[in-house]
Amino acid sequence: MKKCIVAIDGPAGSGKSTTAKLLASRLGYIYIDTGAMYRAITLYALRKNILSDGERICSEMRSLNLGLKIVNGENKIFLNDEDITQEIRAKNINDNVSAVSTIECVRKELVNKQRILASSGGVVMEGRDIGTVVFPDADVKIFLTASIEKRAKRRYDENLASGKEIKYEDVLKNLESRDRIDSTRVHSPLRKAVDAFEVDNSEMSIDEQVEFIKGIVQMKLGTPVTEQGL
Ligand code: C5P
Repeated sequence: MKKCIVAIDGPAGSGKSTTAKLLASRLGYIYIDTGAMYRAITLYALRKNILSDGERICSEMRSLNLGLKIVNGENKIFLNDEDITQEIRAKNINDNVSAVSTIECVRKELVNKQRILASSGGVVMEGRDIGTVVFPDADVKIFLTASIEKRAKRRYDENLASGKEIKYEDVLKNLESRDRIDSTRVHSPLRKAVDAFEVDNSEMSIDEQVEFIKGIVQMKLGTPVTEQGL
């Protein structure tokens, strides 16, 4: 059976991670969170205090070992064998990741890694430029959106649930700023691929959107998804 590539793009807080993760598990596919890779490089640059030195970030990131692994059923990201899964969700990363993501050579390096990771197919990959740049020939492309207020409320609730008290207004400002930088940057801006299905999930439950997208995958591939996946 052909193992395809499902590309899911969309703005911050649109529910890409939750949806992509569940979809991958229902299809029996691997889930790849490309935002976590940009976050990892941002963490490295912050620690080294080289945030404003794009060239140095690029030359040093080539020797970094970025690992995406599943540990006890959880998706984890490692930087040179250090588990940074929690740390890349901190506020200082949220505030700086979009600026780091505008650097052309950072994108080039990470896009190469992403293509290698998905080389055998059977992957649900989520990000901003998956359907437009990383895999312009992806078998299925989804562009996930929701109103900015819904997205901010979701992020606010997620933060609260994980013990982080960040004001709703601050969450909203961070999303607006990232949306602006991500969609206006020169290299690989966030935009819907012409052949992507746009799904506005403002009024959808998580299960509804996962089933809806699974339906699109089945329709595109002409194959029903069974209990065992595709
Ligand atoms: O998906 P997440 O919100 O974790 O992504 C963090 C940031 O990484 C985004 O705001 C964007 O600046 C950058 N990013 C990107 N291209 C991707 C994935 C994420 O530029 N494919």
